[in-house]
Amino acid sequence: MDGDAMKKLIAPIPLVSLVLFVPLLACVAVAGDEALLVRTAPAFPDVLVGPQRYAVLRGDFHIHTPYSDGKLTPAERVREAWAYGYDVIAITDHRNFEAYAEALPVAKEFGLILIRGMETGLHEMEHLVALGFAADYVPRDPHSWADAEGGPRVYYREQWRRLTDAGGLVLYAHPHVGFNGAGAWAAETGEPLDPPLRHRLREPIRWALAEGLLHGIEVRNHATDRGWGVVRDRGTLWYPMALDWADEYGLTVFANTDVHQARADDGNAHEPQSATLLLVRERSPEGVMEALRAGRTVAHFAGLLCGRRDMVGPLVRALTQVDFRRGPDGAGRVRIENRGPVALTAEFRGLDLEPVTIDAHQTALVALAAAPNELSIVWTNALVRSTESLVTVHRPTP
Ligand SMILES: [Zn+2]
Ligand SMILES: [Zn+2]
Repeated sequence: MDGDAMKKLIAPIPLVSLVLFVPLLACVAVAGDEALLVRTAPAFPDVLVGPQRYAVLRGDFHIHTPYSDGKLTPAERVREAWAYGYDVIAITDHRNFEAYAEALPVAKEFGLILIRGMETGLHEMEHLVALGFAADYVPRDPHSWADAEGGPRVYYREQWRRLTDAGGLVLYAHPHVGFNGAGAWAAETGEPLDPPLRHRLREPIRWALAEGLLHGIEVRNHATDRGWGVVRDRGTLWYPMALDWADEYGLTVFANTDVHQARADDGNAHEPQSATLLLVRERSPEGVMEALRAGRTVAHFAGLLCGRRDMVGPLVRALTQVDFRRGPDGAGRVRIENRGPVALTAEFRGLDLEPVTIDAHQTALVALAAAPNELSIVWTNALVRSTESLVTVHRPTP
């Protein structure tokens, strides 16, 4: 589903097609000013993790409105997210969560799940996105927490605890160690990713990790560019180290847009909008928060699926059906069906074959002159670490 270009069609439509869109028009009339809004949503199959079945939702948990420095109103953000195929969003303005109350009735009308959120953090350094905190949470010096005690601004440790005590799930947004340049990654120079590239996590983040108060991290922020510590890797800009930290510290991975303008004009506009895929037990705000707390997410951006091994594995297994056959003469074939909306690239380990990309809902049949006893497939665009792809092992079907 690469047609993220424009989902909104506002045009004079022949009367006959209008009839088809009557239910949509009815929806739109409630919320606003555009004649027609069209939703394009990629359909993911359910995912099995052990005996449990999960539905896959597409989320964006970092969005701005005029309650901070964003351009679209809360109602417009809901309509836009619906049109772009999201199932759940959090509006996360800097310093306040005013947008939530305004967006909620529209979200209900559109069947979109809305999570209460805001962006806060350390003074001119780490930005933190907080999700799902109680309505009576009163932020103090949001976005301006002090590194040390005793100054004019509130101390971050105190505030971070208050936020999590209010039920807030905290994630590290665009994890670039502040925008004063102090901790910029070497890779900002445009050098290729050179593992194991590391940059220093500042004390507040290390403290929160040790205290179990940091729950998630953006491995991708659709809006950040040079100056925000992103790394150019695999043809896009992202935070590969964040994927390794998620693995090491058990953090929930996010691919959020941090959209400020209209989606069509914001960030890496040539790429489809980033999404956080969630594996939920139920489609509700509670179901979403439960999945986020349990770490059941996979980041989807720029043709990549990135996440912890225990989530990427089940997702790729749900998306694919692999049938491997081997004849008595040692020749064989492998049939790979892609049952989902994400193109997947398979590399056959140890075999002298070109990698095969199987597009959404396509099936590939690959002849193997000399089939191994056991076939290892490296899913090159499904990453479990910054430099490691998911591998699945297949035995021949008798
Ligand atoms: Zn930010
Ligand atoms: Zn932001």
